[in-house]
Amino acid sequence: MSRSGPSEDWDVVLVGGGIMSATLGVLLSEVQPDWRITVVERLDEAGLESSHAWNNAGTGHAGLCEFNYTPGRPDGTVDASRAVRIGEQFVSSLVFWARLVERGVLGPPEAFIHSVPHLGFGPGADGVAYLHARWEALRGHPLFSDLEFSEDPDVLASWLPLMFEGRNGNEPVAVTRSAQGTDVDFGALTRQLLSALQQRGGVVRTRQEVTALRRHGRTWVVQVRDRRTGQRRRLRAPYVFVGAGGGTLPLLQSARVPEIRRYGAFPISGQFLRADRPDLVAAHRGKVYGHAAPGAPPISVPHLDLRVVDGKEALLFGPFAAFSPRFLTRGRLTDLVRSVRPGNLPVLVAAARDNRSLVSYLIRQVTQSADARTAALRRFVPSARGDDWTLMTAGQRVQVLKKTAGRSTVGFGTEIVTSAGGSLAALLGASPGASTAASTMLDLLAASFPQHMPEWAPQLDRLAPSTQTVRQLGPDRLGEEVTRARRMLGLLPG
Ligand SMILES: Cc1cc2nc3c(=O)[nH]c(=O)nc-3n(C[C@H](O)[C@H](O)[C@H](O)COP(=O)(O)OP(=O)(O)OC[C@H]3O[C@@H](n4cnc5c(N)ncnc54)[C@H](O)[C@@H]3O)c2cc1C
Repeated sequence: MSRSGPSEDWDVVLVGGGIMSATLGVLLSEVQPDWRITVVERLDEAGLESSHAWNNAGTGHAGLCEFNYTPGRPDGTVDASRAVRIGEQFVSSLVFWARLVERGVLGPPEAFIHSVPHLGFGPGADGVAYLHARWEALRGHPLFSDLEFSEDPDVLASWLPLMFEGRNGNEPVAVTRSAQGTDVDFGALTRQLLSALQQRGGVVRTRQEVTALRRHGRTWVVQVRDRRTGQRRRLRAPYVFVGAGGGTLPLLQSARVPEIRRYGAFPISGQFLRADRPDLVAAHRGKVYGHAAPGAPPISVPHLDLRVVDGKEALLFGPFAAFSPRFLTRGRLTDLVRSVRPGNLPVLVAAARDNRSLVSYLIRQVTQSADARTAALRRFVPSARGDDWTLMTAGQRVQVLKKTAGRSTVGFGTEIVTSAGGSLAALLGASPGASTAASTMLDLLAASFPQHMPEWAPQLDRLAPSTQTVRQLGPDRLGEEVTRARRMLGLLPG
């Protein structure tokens, strides 16, 4: 045996046990049941990093309430195209989960998804005008047909008692509401998907850290270290997906993937205020999204959410940005420094220079006091008392820094990277994230296995329709598909 330990052969190695690897594993096991698939996870269990329920906000992003997907135009109208795309991507996930429940592949849906209305909050004359224009732009589309708009204080108080009952002041306010919104426990869903993969013969190993990746001929060699015993193993496979979340960039750097040589990364942790007082929770039945502060990134959009985790309800308000140099919540303090290479140093320096408003926003966030956080919460809940809310640290977002059109940009989207003819694929970035796992993994399959897609596409489409298929359904069929999926997931009565 060599110093790098015994060697095993696989058809597919999925690095990391988060929602992305779990989704990809199930899709692959559907179309290629004979392939030997293994998942390698460094923590004690799968779904404990960004996909864990309390490490993200659990919003089933469908474009119903997030203003960053509906930018205003100079003439006062709103561009709805991005929200429609996110809505289509969410349909893909929703149908995927529903079909797996229908076939008994996934267990009870109430363990991972709940119906929680999504609302948009537009305070001030500008906020009201924007929200009205947004509603006008969206409501004609079948995915947004139940979107309601109101400025009536009685209606707002009935929708959102915690925010609007007894609210004083003359500031105009409007709210939009869709009853189709969801709260998703992506950690529980990840574990259900991985156990389905195991039932189909996949092997999931935890407490195993991938320490390096190398290409030998047409084979990838994945070096793994057992975190309990320190023993090493080598996994050999023609295809590797690096779904390691914040751990992805360092692994691609170790593999010397040329496509990411100039990419840098910068971690931003998310913090939320959490309240568990039953009367507060009972008075807030929704996820309410507002406007980001001027100069702030889209990930900073303030929202007040009802969460349902392990059968218990709680409220969450945030996010507030914090700084940690770790790329994973249980990563190393040296992660950021070790990611700096001669190839990406200029990008990192230029990113700080070219994104001054983002840098000053982050400094303001990191240095803000508890009183400032309560003041931000009081924009939503005027009667909020600081001692009902506890500050909690959620997951790390590792933002990708790269050069586009000669300018160093911070990427807030999700980016698929492939290398060596598609035999290595990875996902960088974290937004809109877990909600779009199915369509993102379908795109990744198309980029990695173009030669198999003509054969796989019909089968994949029956399990998880692509956004293209969703778009082509037409209003009636789309409505039927969504209703069927929502009923199967217990999101509709009956
Ligand atoms: C604050 C915050 C709020 C968010 N809110 C939402 C939201 O409301 N809705 C939404 O849809 N998305 C949201 N997201 C994004 C969402 O959480 C992520 O997009 C999604 O969870 C990413 O899944 P993943 O599988 O890529 O990564 P992860 O869930 O992080 O999984 C990666 C796994 O890889 C493992 N790993 C890392 N390195 C190694 C290694 N070397 N060897 C072996 N294993 C390794 C990790 O331990 C981890 O389990 C949010 C994210 C954050 C941070």
